[in-house]
This record gives sequence, structure tokens and C-alpha cells, in this order.
Amino acid sequence: MKGLKAKIVKRVEDREQDLIDLCCKLIQAEGENPPGDVSKVASVAEHFLQSEAISYEKFEPTKGHTSIVASIGKTKPTLILCGHLDVVPAGDISHWTFHPYKAEVRSGKILGRGATDMKGGAAAMLMTIAVLKEFENTLSGRLVVASVSDEEAPGPGGTSWLLKNKKLSGDACLIAEPTGYLNGDYSIVAGERGACWLKITAHGKPSHGSRPMLGKNAIFMLTNFLPKLKILEESKVKTPNSAKPLIRGGKTLLRKVARKSGISPKSLTKALDHYTVNVGTLTGGTKINVVPEKCEAEVDIRVPIGGNPDGVEDFVRSILPENFECQVVNRTMPSYTPANAPIIKVLQNHAKKVFGYKPPATFMAATSDAHSFREQLGIPTVSFGPGYEELAHTYDEFVYAEDVINMAKVYVNVVFDYLELRSSDAGT
Ligand SMILES: [Zn+2]
Repeated sequence: MKGLKAKIVKRVEDREQDLIDLCCKLIQAEGENPPGDVSKVASVAEHFLQSEAISYEKFEPTKGHTSIVASIGKTKPTLILCGHLDVVPAGDISHWTFHPYKAEVRSGKILGRGATDMKGGAAAMLMTIAVLKEFENTLSGRLVVASVSDEEAPGPGGTSWLLKNKKLSGDACLIAEPTGYLNGDYSIVAGERGACWLKITAHGKPSHGSRPMLGKNAIFMLTNFLPKLKILEESKVKTPNSAKPLIRGGKTLLRKVARKSGISPKSLTKALDHYTVNVGTLTGGTKINVVPEKCEAEVDIRVPIGGNPDGVEDFVRSILPENFECQVVNRTMPSYTPANAPIIKVLQNHAKKVFGYKPPATFMAATSDAHSFREQLGIPTVSFGPGYEELAHTYDEFVYAEDVINMAKVYVNVVFDYLELRSSDAGT
């Protein structure tokens, strides 16, 4: 067995250049979202799978919103590797010191939009299935690699479509999103907050701007009300015991980030186990000399473990003044996979061999595709992939080629061991 695993890792090493080339091709194929057309990127994945003689299904519920689901091995148990093909727009090209879609490799760095988020991870998981194809008969289960659309912005395809239409199922899921920090360590992200996005509207009464006392100014009404929502940030929630190690892991990481950015560590770590309130947009009024009749705000409230988006809605409605309206536009539950889950243990074990340290299991403040797997399939789901938090969605994005290669080395062994572990569980 040990000889076999060494052989598999050796195969990844033999194909390092292929892996770097694949990552570059995925970057060159762009796939900006919005608008979310990833057909060129999906073609790169398809050609690669074809050349490796791996069977796959292609799903395109709306033109250009393509997802490619490849698989090898027997039917049970199944491990899913998942990653998205879309990227956020490159923005103003003049802010880049290199072309975002040329995908140059310089001093060990692969440069370009999506290098970190997450063409590096997508390439690593495609290489994982390619390498394991040769060892298919020795796998104790099935590996599914899902390359999906519509992650960077909501859209008609992507993970939620695949799950809703039962095109994707398994016993655990590993998402190859970037979970590193520049000049820092990688962690395994195993939990995330939920969200309650609200549209709040105040209805006033128009009047001439010279006699505002005769009207009701909707902008004043709403801007007086919005600060009241900050009460939520002070409310205490009860963190379940099994989520506490993840929150502790997340806080240790964020303290380092806070020190680097020169802000108080406490103000940042609070984001892991408290609600936060952000007013994202405010629109109202028609003309300078008219008392505005209507004002509308979009508010992003993040929900910690132990909290509930329904509770947020109830609270907001309970304090909503007369002539106000409130509409929930997105409701996502917080979710996590406990730190002692087998998928985390197996990942830590192999990551330690490759990276030289045991990555901690952590909780993050944001929300990702992982919650869909936890909610809709009810399976343990974690993120662990090449790239750095600070570089996602920024100018001059890059990933170290070595990190992409190392991740592929971790993935091949994790797939092998996890399937073996779960198949022996099922047998006892
Ligand atoms: Zn991403």
C-alpha cells in the first residue's frame, strides 16, 4: 500500500508541467461573472478529460452556464471534489502590472485573474482525477470531480442547480477554494456564517423642498431607522460545543490578519461568532427640491452559528416603524462540519506530510457553496485549496505553482484514504 501511494504521488510529480499548463489554459479561457458565461473554460476542462479518457457529463441549463461532472471508480462510497470555473471581472486593466488573461509564469508564480480564486484549485482537482484514473481499480469507491459555473454571482447553473436536480451526490465533499494566506499557513475551512439579506423601504410624503414640514422625508425616515439594526451586532448567540474548536481556529488566524492590517484583533474576530450588519446600497429621492417619497436600502446581515435568518427577519419586523416595508431577498443558514469529521482528519494527515504542518480546521465569516452541500445533501463538506485570501478578487492576482502542485499531492492521497476508510466503515 505504501509503495502504491508513493507511486501515485510520483505520478503527480511527473506531471507538474502538465498541471501548470492546465492552470494557465483555464486562466486564459477567462469566464468572467457577471455575465457568467464559462463555456470556454468548460471546454478546456472537457478537452483535458477527453485526453485522459475520463468520462464526464456536461450540464448547461442556460447557454454558457456550463458545469462538467467527471467520475471514476465504483459506486460507493463517493467523495466529491468541487470547484468553480467562473471568475470576478478583471476590472480596470490599467491597474494590473501584467495582463490578467495572459497567464504568464514568472519566478514560480502563475499570474492572472482567477489564479488564486480558483483556477489553481480547479486545475489541481482535474489533475487528481487524471492521475487516479490509472489507479482506478485500486480505489475503494468513486471520485467525482465537479467543475461548476455560477459561484461568483448567483446564476441559473452551478452547484445549487446540480444539487436541486440531483446531478451530484456523495458521502463527503472537498471544495478546492483558496484557503491560504500570503506568507502564512493553509487552513481547512469547515464552517461558515449564514446570511439574511433584506430590502427595506420607507414610504414618505412628497412636498415642495422649500416647505419640508408639509411632507414626510423618506430618506430621513430610513437613515434614522437603519442604525437601530446595529443592536443585532451586540446580541449574544449560543455556539454549539462541536463548533467551538472551529471558531477558535478561525480566531487565531484572524488575529494574525488584524495585526498585519493594523486593526484591533477583537473587532475582527467578533465577525466569526456574532451577527454583522452592512448597509450595501441606499437609493431615494428624485430631485433636490422635492421631499422624497421613497427610500430603499439593501442590508446584508450575516448570521453566526447558533443564530437564524428567520430570527433576524422577526426582529427587524418587530422594530419596523409605520409606513416601512421589509422583504427578505436571500436567506442562508449558518453551517459547519465538526472538527473531528473523518474528512478533516484525513486531510490534516496528508497535508502535514506535504506542507510540513497540520492545517487547523477553521470557521470563516463569509458564506460559500459549502453550505449547499451541507444543507441539501447533508454531507460533511470542507474547503482546502491553493491560493490566498488577500489576493482573491484583487488586481495582480497570482498563485505559487508549488502550492498548486502540493495541493494535488494532498488530494490524490486524501481521495485514496478517505474512500478506503469509508468503505471499511460500511463493511463493519
Ligand atoms: Zn472562489
